[in-house]
This record gives sequence, C-alpha cells and structure tokens, in this order.
Amino acid sequence: MSAVKNENMLMIPKIKLGIVIDHIPAGDGVKILEIISRYEELKDVPITLGLNYDSKKLGRKDLIKLQLEFLAPEIIQHISIVVPGVTIKAIKEYKVYSKVVVQAPKEIRNLLKCKNPNCITNLQPGIETVFVAVDENSDQVKCNYCERIFDRSELQPIIK
Ligand SMILES: [Zn+2]
Repeated sequence: MSAVKNENMLMIPKIKLGIVIDHIPAGDGVKILEIISRYEELKDVPITLGLNYDSKKLGRKDLIKLQLEFLAPEIIQHISIVVPGVTIKAIKEYKVYSKVVVQAPKEIRNLLKCKNPNCITNLQPGIETVFVAVDENSDQVKCNYCERIFDRSELQPIIK
C-alpha cells in the first residue's frame, strides 16, 4: 500500500465488516440499489451509496457499501445481470477479505421475467424462465420458450 493518501478515498468511510460493491459505472449505482431494495432480507441493512468517485479504470464510478457479512448468491447474480463487471468485496476487520468480479452468466435461470405477454412463462404459473446470452460480447439474451431476443437491461427481475 502506498503511503500517499488519496483524498477521494478518505471521503468513503471505512467499514469494519461488510460488503463493498465497487467499480460500478457512474450512474448505475441506483440500478443496483433498486435490486437491493427489493430484497426483504436486506431491508434493515445500513447501506451507503457513493456517486461519481474518481476511478482509474472507469473515469467515474459509483460504489455501494452494505453493513452485512454475506450477500446471497442470488442477489449477486441479479446484480451481475443488471450491471455486469462490478467488483464485490467482502471486508473483515477493515481489510478486503475476498474479492470477485461478477459477469453475467451465459444462462440466466428464473431470475428475469420474459417481456412477451404471450410467452408461456407468463401464462402458466410455475414455469421457470430461462434466458441464454446471444453471444459472448452482447447484452442481448434469448428466451428459451418464446425465442424472442431482449436487452438484458430491459427485463424485470424476478424476486422470490
Ligand atoms: Zn419468453
């Protein structure tokens, strides 16, 4: 660690224990907050949202801190679908304990709702939705049932 203190870093309070969602492209922090706010289990968790921090990688970035020990894999998956490429860090005793860069999965099972009102997943309760990435570098996904193609970001998440 460099001894030179970065003034911008000082603006973000350090946490003893928690989860930091870092390298969020500026403007996308609210999208992640929106997902987090839908989870009942996170409704009492103290959350800090930082907007427009300087970032070497992104120019400007948003950042979210959650004061909780563990983020459920399902929530991480939802975040990876809506804003791929963010870094999720677990903090223990003020130090980064683990760090993972999340990418959207190739196959998204029962996490997004199909936008086609006539899709069987919307007509018959209990059918799990499945979307498959159209290709590696695209944000488009195809519904396995009605075969329509959507932008991942236009699909509403399913919160169980
Ligand atoms: Zn469909």
